[in-house]
Parts: sequence; C-alpha cells; structure tokens
Amino acid sequence: MISVSTLISSCTGPQSTTSEKEDNFNYFVDQFEDMRVLRYRLPGFESLSSHQKELIYYLSEAALCGRDILWDQNFKYNLLIRKTNEAIIRSYKGDKETSDYKKFLIWAKRVFFANGIHHHYSADKMIPGITREYYESLVRECDQSLLPVINGKTIDTLLAVIVPIIFDPELYPRKIERTEGKDIIAESAVNFYDGVTEKEAEAFYNDKIDPADPRPVAVGLNTRMVKRNGKITEEIYRSGGLYGEAIDKIIYWLEKAKNVAENELQQKELEVLVDYYKTGDLKRWDDYNVLWARNIEPVVDYVNGFIEVYEDPAGMKATWEAIVNYKDPEATRRTEIITANAQWFEDNSPVQPEYKKEKVTGVAAKVINIAMLGGDCFPASPVGINLPNSDWIRKEIGSKSVTLANISSAYDAVSVVSGMLDEFAASTEEIERVKKYGSLAEDIHTDLHECIGHASGKLAEGTDPNALREHQSALEEARAELFALYYIMDDKLIELGLLPEKEAAKAAYDNYIRNGMLTQLVRIKPGKQIEQAHMRARALISRWAYENGKNDNVIEIFSKDGKTFVKINDYEKLRILFGNLLKEVQRIKSEGDYGAGKALIEAYGVKVDPVLHNELLARYEKLKLAPYTGFLNPRLVPVYDDKGEITDVKVEYEDDFLWQMLYYGTNYSFLPAVLN
Ligand code: ZN
Repeated sequence: MISVSTLISSCTGPQSTTSEKEDNFNYFVDQFEDMRVLRYRLPGFESLSSHQKELIYYLSEAALCGRDILWDQNFKYNLLIRKTNEAIIRSYKGDKETSDYKKFLIWAKRVFFANGIHHHYSADKMIPGITREYYESLVRECDQSLLPVINGKTIDTLLAVIVPIIFDPELYPRKIERTEGKDIIAESAVNFYDGVTEKEAEAFYNDKIDPADPRPVAVGLNTRMVKRNGKITEEIYRSGGLYGEAIDKIIYWLEKAKNVAENELQQKELEVLVDYYKTGDLKRWDDYNVLWARNIEPVVDYVNGFIEVYEDPAGMKATWEAIVNYKDPEATRRTEIITANAQWFEDNSPVQPEYKKEKVTGVAAKVINIAMLGGDCFPASPVGINLPNSDWIRKEIGSKSVTLANISSAYDAVSVVSGMLDEFAASTEEIERVKKYGSLAEDIHTDLHECIGHASGKLAEGTDPNALREHQSALEEARAELFALYYIMDDKLIELGLLPEKEAAKAAYDNYIRNGMLTQLVRIKPGKQIEQAHMRARALISRWAYENGKNDNVIEIFSKDGKTFVKINDYEKLRILFGNLLKEVQRIKSEGDYGAGKALIEAYGVKVDPVLHNELLARYEKLKLAPYTGFLNPRLVPVYDDKGEITDVKVEYEDDFLWQMLYYGTNYSFLPAVLN
C-alpha cells in the first residue's frame, strides 16, 4: 500500500517549512492548470559508499526502463499519442509563441504528468483547449520521420486514429469507470482487459482462486485479459511475453545491481525478482517478496514490479512501478540517539506506571530518501510506502513501512513560499520561527512519533488489542503524536543535541495547532467530516487542548479582518495538557476502554464547523495552489575509471519538466507504438 498526498502538506505530519541548510535549493519547477512539478533533493547521497552509489545507479536505470509499460497499461493508444506529441514538441516548425501552441503545450504537459490522456486522479479524459484542425496542422508541420507511423501507414491514417480519440468526448471518456450500473471493465479505458465483460472476468477468476489456500498468489496481478475468437486468455507480462522488450531492459539492470548488492539476502532477492520477470510466475513473485520483506539491513533499497491494483476497476491487475531509496544518514543518526534513550523516555512519561513498558525497544529508522521514481510512482509520488501487499506475507513475515523524507521535505519547503504560512500563521514572530526551525522540528517530531511513540506503553493483562475497533487507528496515531509532542518540549532533547533551543519546539507546537485546528481542513470537501486517522488524531489533540486550556487561555482563537487565526499563549501549559491527554489515551488503549475512546474521537476528532470550513476553503482557494504535485527526477551520472568500472555517481538536479519528458522518451522508450 502507498500513502498519497494530493494537497499541500504530507499526511504524515503537520506542514512545516524549509530550514537554513535548504535555503538555496529551488524546489519549484513548473505549474500547469491543476498540476505542479517540484524537485526533490538527495541529502547525504555524497556520503554513501561508491558501491552503494553504484547499486543505486543500476536500480535507477531499472526504475526508468519500465516507463512505457505504465503508459500502455493506462490506455492502449497512450504511446501513440505521446510519441506524436514528442515529435511535435521536438520539431514543429511553425510559430510557437501563439496562444494555441501554448494551449497545446499545457495539454501535452498534463498528459506527460498523468502518464496518459486520462487524468491520473479523476480518471477523466483530458481534452486539449485547441481545435482538431490546429492539432492536425501541428502534426503535419513537424518532422515526419519522428512520428510513430509504422507498417507503411500514412500520416492520414495516424490522424484518423488519434484525433477522434483525443477530441471526441464520447470516446474513451474515463480511464476507470466505477459508476453503479455500468460494466466497470468493458467501459473503462484502462488496458488491462480487451473485449472482456465484468461478468466474464469474474467467472474467469472464480475458477482460478482457491479460497482455502492459506498462501494464495495474487491471481491476475501481472496479466492482460483478452478475448480472442470467443476464448478468454491471459497475456503475461514477462520476458518474451507482453511488455517483454521493456522487461528485458529492466532485467539487464537488475542483473548488474545483483552483482553489487549490499548483502547476500539482497543478492538472492534480486535473483528471484529477475527469475519472476523471466517467467511471470506469481509464486516466484511471492518468494521474492518474502525475501524482500525480511531484508531490513541494506542502506539501499527499492521497489520494482507490478504492485498496486488501484487502476484496475476490478482491483486485480497491477500497474508497473519503481522506487529506489536509501536510508537517510542524518535521520539515522537522530533516530539512533532517540532509540538509545528509549527507556528514559518511557520511564519519565506522564503515563500511569502500570501501563509503561519495563523494557522498551525503540523502532529503527523508517526514514528514507528517494533517489529515483519510476512507473506509477512518477511524477506523482507517494509520501509513504507499506509493502508487500500480500496478506499472508504481511502476517507471516511482516512488511516494510517507510516515510519518504525528501519528498515530504519538498512539499514542506514549497508550502512556505506558497503563501500558506503567510495566510494562516497568527503573527510574523510565528512565521519567522517556523521558517527558522519548522523543518527540523518536523523531522524530530516524526522521529519521536515513529521510533518511540508507537513503541511505548503496554496493555493491561487480558485486554483485547483490537478492543478500540473502528477508532483503533486514530487513537493509536493520537497516542504516538502526544508522546512526540510531550517530549519535543523537554530539556532532554536539547541535552541530547537533537534541538538547538526551546524556540525550535515552539515552532513544532505552532505548526501542530495551526494545522490541527485550521489548515488540515482545506483537504476536506465541503459538507464532509474528518475521516482519515492521522487527521482525526490531529483534530482531537489540538481541539481537546484548546477546550481544556480555555480557563488559562492556553490557546486563543481570534479573528482579524474577517479571518480566523489560532495562537498559543502558554507553551509550557500546553505541554502539560498534552501530557494529560497522553495519560488518558494510553489508559484507554491499555484497558481497551472503547466507550471513552469513541467519546473522545466523536467530541473532538470528526466534526467540521461549516462556517469556519468555508472561510478556510475560500482563503486556500485564493492562493491558487495546484492540488496535484509531481516530481522531477534528478539525473544520476556515473563516473568511470579507465577500466570501465564505476567509481562514483554524481547527482545532477534538472529543472525543466518537458526536457526530462523528452529525454525519457528518447532514452527509456522500449515499447513500439503500434498503429493497427
Ligand atoms: Zn503513526
């Protein structure tokens, strides 16, 4: 499973900001209509060993080689249209300064961003704001040798095929059709099925799935289902099979990666992955995932395969995706300090003694940096990953759950310059403090939450661990958040060298309360309530603290020029309130007190005041922020010695979205765009 952030702040924490060390890095790249493109940094990359860098380089090449697979999976005419657009952008000889050409470019960029002509989020076909005639003139006036016209077909045939597909609103209107009463498979444009109805697909799978199998493979995960001459078969994604040309390139780079793997298990794991790509055997895919889930040692890790099934209306078939990542060295240092002191934090918390752990072990760093995004993770990237998806592997072996630190940092950094802070912060003093310390405070907050927050506390004997039922996850998030909030204001953090001064902790509190009471609500549609567990936890904590600190005016709500603001008047008292609530939430968990947990969530964590909500949405709307964010990849450039061995890898940050799209189109396109 992946977690996705479609709005300004990541879902793993309150939005924060850039710190001084990042001041000179320009995160923003481009914006077109509802989409914007940022860059991400690779902090600490230079301090990796040359072997680790080499491994990252090979895995990154493998991550880029599957790009065409996703385009074809999304819609069978996507590659044809993309290659036509690439030819226009490269070689159109007419006037490029006209408003029509600019409109064409905006559409072309949106198509690049969405990996196809359907919107990556809404699934609706994106129709360009130009006429068919103009588009045809663009195609006719570009270098014909660059056009994907093959098998001796003429340009007229190409136009006859793609122009109606691009412009006719009735043709392939939705990538994924989920409307009640429609055939979700036959009426979806997505290319997992050809000529097959929903009923036929269901019957086909029912024959193959054995509900009694304790370790079932993910039937249908890596195939396209087709009906030919009345017979249904599956085309398997594998070497020599469907998408074989691209898969062979992926295999080539994975083999190289295998030779510089960090440990034996990783070597074995890559070997099994290659075998799976060669055979398409889902049993091998499970074998691979078992090894991968076990292997938590390496600094360099990756995701590569047909994994998430969100794009299949029937939820069986997976899009191809890839990520390459490495443990954040700075975060690793921080979390080592925190976990080394885990027992001190446990012993000194405000929780009742009987619900403290006698022996607590902190959880190792789960913070990673992305080095390359590919397939369905590019350009729109997740902010967290929790894999593998197979239930039986998760149960028997476990899973890896990580936060993508540098992706979150990019979101955070841009939220400062995007005007969010200026619009919603209560004072210039607060803005200055957040600018100075927000990013650092955010990192420490996340570390405390992940490394010791979730690991702390224990259940009373006989308490059912699932007693809190539907409120379990929100209350658990609240517990970890409160642990982090309580300790971030503790002198111990300064003593351990994790924070430079108390002002940094104040920035964490400012961000938290502002987000919990105000800004996170802009992610909710009008008339809706708060549903997501992290958001409920944040609302619960900040609103509870506001209500319970009212007598001392700990948190103040005020309005200025018709706008609502929140302001913390007493940081030390707020800390005590966080401690009190931590004690109560821990008691609820330890005793399995469902009634009390439910009452807390319902009183503070769910409701949205419609008047305040409308005001916040209107203020947010005025900032004109694009709701969908994607990322430009860095370029990894290997340095060779005279024997042809890689001795180092340099990171080059690019800054032109179109340029990267064309570069990938030239260098990482391995599937033919077939005009039948
Ligand atoms: Zn958590």
